[in-house]
Amino acid sequence: MDVSLLDVLRCPFCGTRLDPVDNEALGRDGSRIVWGVLGCQCCAFPIVDGIPVLLADDPTRTAMHAMEAGRPDDALASLLGLDPAGAGRLRDLLQRGDATYRDALEIISPDAEGTYFIYRFSDPTFVLAETLVRAIGADRRRTAHVIDLCGGSGHLTRVLGELSDRPVVVADVYFSKLWLAQRFTAPGCVPICCDGNQPLPFARDTFSMVVLSDAFPYIWHKRLLAEEMLRLAGRNGTILMPHLHSSLGFNFSAGMTLTPEAYRDLFAPAQPRLFRDSDLLGDILGHTAIDLSRDVTPEQAGHEPSVTLVASRDTGVFRKHHVADPGALTGELRINPLYRVEARGARAQLTLAFPTPEYEEEFGAVRRYLPDSLTLDVDPRGPLTPAQFGAGYTDLRRRRILLDTPPNYC
Ligand SMILES: [Zn+2]
Repeated sequence: MDVSLLDVLRCPFCGTRLDPVDNEALGRDGSRIVWGVLGCQCCAFPIVDGIPVLLADDPTRTAMHAMEAGRPDDALASLLGLDPAGAGRLRDLLQRGDATYRDALEIISPDAEGTYFIYRFSDPTFVLAETLVRAIGADRRRTAHVIDLCGGSGHLTRVLGELSDRPVVVADVYFSKLWLAQRFTAPGCVPICCDGNQPLPFARDTFSMVVLSDAFPYIWHKRLLAEEMLRLAGRNGTILMPHLHSSLGFNFSAGMTLTPEAYRDLFAPAQPRLFRDSDLLGDILGHTAIDLSRDVTPEQAGHEPSVTLVASRDTGVFRKHHVADPGALTGELRINPLYRVEARGARAQLTLAFPTPEYEEEFGAVRRYLPDSLTLDVDPRGPLTPAQFGAGYTDLRRRRILLDTPPNYC
């Protein structure tokens, strides 16, 4: 973490400033603190491999003591949830120099959620969140200082980073996800490990945009988190919550859902507006504009499976936003990993192949933009460039057949 972060960081429990403790554990690299301990008036928290861990639980204390005893590698391994064998595999992988996000994920998170992360850049929920962020964030005043709450391994953080003049803060309770975000998905982001069920570790009025995509229904202390989001956004910040599962509709892995009316009421002081996700996704797949002038009442949201909530005093948010064509590459151009690719001479035969039946069941809506099979006039064995795809490039990007992924993604 950069020392400038200390200006906005506060203890989640006593609310006082956090300052680095001058002890053996302190490891600095210029203005960055990579290892060390942060102290407030009530508590102490570790910074492990650049990530402040603002939790007060036993694993965090164990990691802090390992670091203070001169064993930072043990502190990192324990927070990544790795046993000695796993830690060894990760160390070998990183020493190889060509480690990818997928390789690291297979060591750190070898489960269904890992699968979901690999394919995140094209799932319908992400497509919705990304388009909303790009539409609302096109006005730079709104993305002056952004936080991606419950941002996981940083897929949406990466998009926010393209729009924001300042490094994007990504907060999550899972240290391992943040570590992946920092290392692979969103380099340059500011990861903060903290719990959305507790007060958030930031000063009030800090962020011009507070984004929370997908995860709110999984939070038990929703009242607290809503109040905290309002506090961080202050009077002039914008709150964006794409894809809130509604208890009145059907959702896979729904979490602890509320009705659209209840979600709206939690954010009442900021006069939030609700949108039907099916309307917004329809706009996006129409490739022209996303219409935020069309908010609905909770009654009109009906049995819609999910809704999006937007709160802003900036009326410029609530209009029709042109959906821009994909811009210049920020990472590597690659074929969507949901396709099995066969090279046939100088052509590529693509066949949609879902990683698991469960993935297909939950995210089968990708079929609305990803065809079951197609042939591309490129040799898939070499690096890909936009020029190779000629006039069809923009459409292939819009439909997520081609993706702009971080370098070393998969
Ligand atoms: Zn404190």
